[in-house]
Amino acid sequence: MKLPFIIIVDDDEQVLRAIQRDIRNKYHNDYRISATDSAYEAIELIKELKLKNETVALFISDQRMPEMEGVAFLEKTKEIYPGAKLVLLTAYSDIDVAIRAINNLKLDYYLLKPWNPPDEKLYPVVDDLLDEWQSQYKPDHEGIRIIGFQWAPKSHRLKEFLSGNLIPYLWMDVESNDEAKKYLVSANVNLDGLPLVVLKDGTCLSDPTLPDLAQHIGLKQTASEKMYDVLIVGGGPAGLAASVYGSCEGLKTILIEKSNPGGQASSSARIENYLGFPKGLSGADLSRRAIAQTLRFGTEILTPKTVKNIRLKDGYKITEMTDGSEVHSKTVIIATGVEYTKLEIPGLDKFTGAGVYYGSASVEAHACKDEIVYIVGGGNSACQAAMHICKFAKEVNIIIRRDSITKTAANYLIENISKTPNIKVHTSTEVVAVEGEKVLEKVTLKAVTTGQEKTFPTKALFIYIGAKPGTSWLNNIVLKDEKGFIQTGDDLIKDKSFNTFWKLERKPLMPETSVPGIFASGDVRSTALTGISSAVGEGAMAIRFVRKYLEQM
Ligand SMILES: Cc1cc2nc3c(=O)[nH]c(=O)nc-3n(C[C@H](O)[C@H](O)[C@H](O)COP(=O)(O)OP(=O)(O)OC[C@H]3O[C@@H](n4cnc5c(N)ncnc54)[C@H](O)[C@@H]3O)c2cc1C
Repeated sequence: MKLPFIIIVDDDEQVLRAIQRDIRNKYHNDYRISATDSAYEAIELIKELKLKNETVALFISDQRMPEMEGVAFLEKTKEIYPGAKLVLLTAYSDIDVAIRAINNLKLDYYLLKPWNPPDEKLYPVVDDLLDEWQSQYKPDHEGIRIIGFQWAPKSHRLKEFLSGNLIPYLWMDVESNDEAKKYLVSANVNLDGLPLVVLKDGTCLSDPTLPDLAQHIGLKQTASEKMYDVLIVGGGPAGLAASVYGSCEGLKTILIEKSNPGGQASSSARIENYLGFPKGLSGADLSRRAIAQTLRFGTEILTPKTVKNIRLKDGYKITEMTDGSEVHSKTVIIATGVEYTKLEIPGLDKFTGAGVYYGSASVEAHACKDEIVYIVGGGNSACQAAMHICKFAKEVNIIIRRDSITKTAANYLIENISKTPNIKVHTSTEVVAVEGEKVLEKVTLKAVTTGQEKTFPTKALFIYIGAKPGTSWLNNIVLKDEKGFIQTGDDLIKDKSFNTFWKLERKPLMPETSVPGIFASGDVRSTALTGISSAVGEGAMAIRFVRKYLEQM
């Protein structure tokens, strides 16, 4: 644990040296002691310490200083370190000021100069104050802090990115957390500069882009090899499984992910059907395990990087990113899964991330404490989200157009929902309008059978209404079915134009696309069985075929 600070300020160099010496003699093993003759310098130091998440146990300040009176200085320290103990060094003539400060400033002690012998006049006082400070002190969160407005899309984007990359952070809502405001003062950032990210070393990033944040927190941004055996696009269960098996089998493996590894699965609050986890596990937990496993085997992960195209050169694959960078590989596995279907309601887009969320139950559930929230959709993911959010929210309303949820969700989820008093299912109902100034404030529901509409106040609307293949980025290099899913293996052979695009003697391998050496696995593959186990199986299996392809190269 880092030692807390004792900060001493006195413009008289001789007195400063004396008090610094006495304090250091007794407390240097348990505290770091910093002394300065300038109150302004001390204030700058305190701001810096705050950003670095350091703690200050005690301020000792002289009263009569030309730059700033001691009482004024201690008042300023309270804005940043309200829990620290305050001692004023005074001459006899300043006792009145000191007594006023005890009442107004809650000064803990005034120490008359000189304090000799320290064993009698200084140490008993400081011992007492430090003991009291220790008993009240609660160690702070030591990692990254995000300070912003709770319902702002920019804050949501950062939280989602960090949690998706399994990087712990402390969220501080600037409207309800006084401590958050202190960080703004220390970083000299106003409300327009939010969200503010404060890193462990005190570095402040005002409204950073994801790549900027990624770079600062040490996420890899550039490929280290000139050529990889296999490049995987998409870090969902299929891509992560492929990366684990690829690097485990000694292939030079790189995985490129546009937001955070884990894919759809990472937004699952509880996965109950994954082999080997009888009590279920959260998507975040599964992703954390998979990321650790693949990194251990030596996979390189680049995130956040969006792949925008794949082109071919002499049989090698060149994968292009939206930031202009390229990575070369012998094979590619496309594992870009599916993207959430947008709910088409006028004006809804402006609230995305500001009260309207696509599959973000696990990130925003805590913010729904004691709120009434709405979930659109009646599939397994919507029901899982409801089961998770109901632990925090006062009431969770599931809105579905159909007349029964039994047709869309798994039995165990329906049973759990029916036993949960704060979840209500509104069948034959749809969301038709949303309102709010900057953030979502109201939803309007319509009864499908009667056409009757009613508006309700809410702060959160979660949307789970299905998905379309994550292939909108992909040029027409590989053959897709009419819905946009990538065709592979035997399905290609059935295509009328097979002989026009397939020129090899051998047949396409089972997960191979219309381009030899480019494979597809997981939800993005036409005719794939969706779900986490299937995606993991497909990712692992794709590596078997990658090896086969490489052996023939
Ligand atoms: C909320 C929720 C709960 C679920 N719960 C369960 C469950 O309990 N059990 C179960 O079996 N299934 C569950 N599912 C379904 C399951 O998560 C999916 O079937 C599975 O994640 C599919 O894995 P995938 O790797 O094929 O694709 P995805 O998980 O969709 O991952 C694709 C990845 O590719 C990335 N990507 C996309 N385009 C690009 C690009 N151009 N460049 C770089 N990266 C890109 C995406 O960001 C994403 O991370 C759930 C789904 C959701 C949404």
